[in-house]
Amino acid sequence: VTRPVTGATRVAGIIGDPVAHSRSPAIHNAAYAATNLDWVFVAMHVPRGAAHVALEGVRALDIAGLSVTMPHKSDAASACDELSPAAEALGAVNVVVARDRRLFGDSTDGEGLVRSVQDQGVDVRGTPAVVLGAGGAARAITRALGAAGADVTVAARRIDAAAETAALAGGATGVALGDLRSGLPAGAVLVNATPVGMQGEPPPVDPGLLDGLRLVVDTIYHPAETALVVAARERGVAVVNGLGMLVHQAALAFELMTSCPAPLAAMREAAEA
Ligand code: NAP
Repeated sequence: VTRPVTGATRVAGIIGDPVAHSRSPAIHNAAYAATNLDWVFVAMHVPRGAAHVALEGVRALDIAGLSVTMPHKSDAASACDELSPAAEALGAVNVVVARDRRLFGDSTDGEGLVRSVQDQGVDVRGTPAVVLGAGGAARAITRALGAAGADVTVAARRIDAAAETAALAGGATGVALGDLRSGLPAGAVLVNATPVGMQGEPPPVDPGLLDGLRLVVDTIYHPAETALVVAARERGVAVVNGLGMLVHQAALAFELMTSCPAPLAAMREAAEA
């Protein structure tokens, strides 16, 4: 925080459990500094099951908005007065803003991913996309890629979860991870939305499947380079890690909370620090 806290300082923050590791305070406070906003963004540890109480606090304390992370994304959605179409479809939010003490929830993770793909010069409209995983991140990404016009396949170790996730994107297909052995569509964007790679595991798909892809996105950003990213690069495939998604979802949340255009460069620099 580079400016003093005053009587007019607006408060925003992130709730999660755990939350102390979050990069969001650094990213949002850098954005406030870059836009000269008299705001401060803090991490608030809210135990599992207490999101409703925390959001009543937002209303009572006139907190400007909250980012929402694990394990509160669904509970927070059910505590909102109004949801965006994305949040409604997903039953989850990653940002809540208070407008006249009414709580509006949105989900910006999926759009964040789409923007990070566009940053690589890839137009997702009409492009095949394969999403690995069927958890919260995969659901948000699948819905956003579908809405942006990509031709989406969801591959997860549980076929029922893959099918359920695929249903979030009109016309998408759900398959079992093992069924990818027969190949990936040429020119596809592959998105890893599983945690496989966070602990140094081998790639979640056979590296032989990566040849001919347009782009590999690993939503993991810690470590900055997973085995999947390394394998794709070795095969001459363009790669990007999850920092772009993190920065873009935060930028969208910043814009919702402050109604100011997000200072993307400052936010990216803070995310990388
Ligand atoms: P989640 O809800 O727990 O979902 C994890 C998904 O991965 C589930 O489909 C799970 O399958 C699958 N999975 C777990 N271990 C696997 C394995 N060994 N092999 C195959 N599939 C496996 O988690 P999430 O919230 O979606 O987050 C997933 C990852 O996305 C996180 O690890 C994080 O790195 C990344 N993420 C990044 C950002 C960003 O801004 N860059 C934001 C959110 C998340 P089952 O259901 O069968 O267990």
